[in-house]
Amino acid sequence: MQSNAALHRRRLEAIPRGIANVTAIAADRAENAELWDVEGRRYIDFAAGIAVLNTGHRHPRVMAAVHAQLDRFTHTAFQVVAYEPYVALAERLNALAPIAGDAQTVLFSTGAEAVENAVKIARRATGRASVIAFTGAFHGRSLLTMALTGKVAPYKTGFGPMQGGIHHVPFPSGDITVAESLRALDLLFAASVDPKQVAAIIIEPVQGEGGFHPTPHELLRALRDICDRHGILLVADEVQTGFARTGKLFGIEHSGVEPDLITVAKGLAGGFPLAGVIGRKAVMDACDPGGLGTTFGGSPMACAAALAVLDVIEEERLCERAATIGAALSARIAGFAGRNDLTRVSAPRGLGAMVAFDILDDAGAPDPQAAKRVVARALDRGLIVLTCGPLGQAIRILAPLTIPDAQLAEGLDILEQALARETGE
Ligand code: PMP
Repeated sequence: MQSNAALHRRRLEAIPRGIANVTAIAADRAENAELWDVEGRRYIDFAAGIAVLNTGHRHPRVMAAVHAQLDRFTHTAFQVVAYEPYVALAERLNALAPIAGDAQTVLFSTGAEAVENAVKIARRATGRASVIAFTGAFHGRSLLTMALTGKVAPYKTGFGPMQGGIHHVPFPSGDITVAESLRALDLLFAASVDPKQVAAIIIEPVQGEGGFHPTPHELLRALRDICDRHGILLVADEVQTGFARTGKLFGIEHSGVEPDLITVAKGLAGGFPLAGVIGRKAVMDACDPGGLGTTFGGSPMACAAALAVLDVIEEERLCERAATIGAALSARIAGFAGRNDLTRVSAPRGLGAMVAFDILDDAGAPDPQAAKRVVARALDRGLIVLTCGPLGQAIRILAPLTIPDAQLAEGLDILEQALARETGE
């Protein structure tokens, strides 16, 4: 039998520490919301590959679609020889996206690529260079997207200089109000950048890595207004919120605000690398032929998987399921707060099945070290769960939306055990 430790020893030699591992286990196989490591131990998976497996590991519909595609062809490069699954997926996303009028879609492989290309498209369509993002936001780790990401360590440390023309405005969470965010944007326009030079404002409908803070609808509506007034494009980064996770197909639908561009990835293809930019046709069509594209973008297997994922979301009513899971998670976590036998926690927050809570010290301050210990104890007891938040103080739950109720409850039982106060701590 292989061992987790042996694989990790090899990993430490062969792979740089810059890509950090949350767990020291090695996957052997996985099915829906369960994963087995190479030593045969079973885990409930509340990480879902960082919000990717909304339809679970190896959903049978997704597997069948990919197998069928594998038997026909695996790669042509779309720009060399086009294929129907790419076109069909674009048509489907255009119809589903909360964009009035004609929409278009272009496909890539990763979330960062989608964000980079949304910025390229916005720059080409507006003839402007600047981009505004929010503190605490996560948009990726590539050279452009790390500059957009609103957190220095570890994402920007030692990787400068950052791309020019990018400005951050305070995100309204903690003690920052929407009015203060908007005032900061006004001051930015007055002091640093002419709004007529701004190509795009990019925002997550719920800050994901930043701590599962839903963006107030009031802010989204105000940004829509400001964008309309100044000819700026509003980009919704739905990489983490996308595809039923929040209880709607796209997180921004909760607000009723229509973005000009939407970036998608993660949950789109049920475990296959696929990302995209969906947007208003007039904007999307601004780039010259050859200005967009990557060799693997919109891989045939990933497109086949995504078409199956969209079917599953519809047929298994995963938007409704996300709301049900979210309510169950919130109720259970709310019950953890105020219990003397458990580590101190905050009230739950999030949207739909995107739920997080902070681990606090006895004085009520965020306690990232304690959060790490909770994650480690959960893993020891058979639950994979992640942290998030500016300090890594929050526990975030991203269970597959296809998780059976019994496994959801089992995962929450383990989480409760992991929160138990230990003597001597
Ligand atoms: N945007 C958001 C909102 C994300 O959550 C992430 C990934 N966590 C990204 C962009 C980058 O995606 P990727 O890791 O696929 O490049």
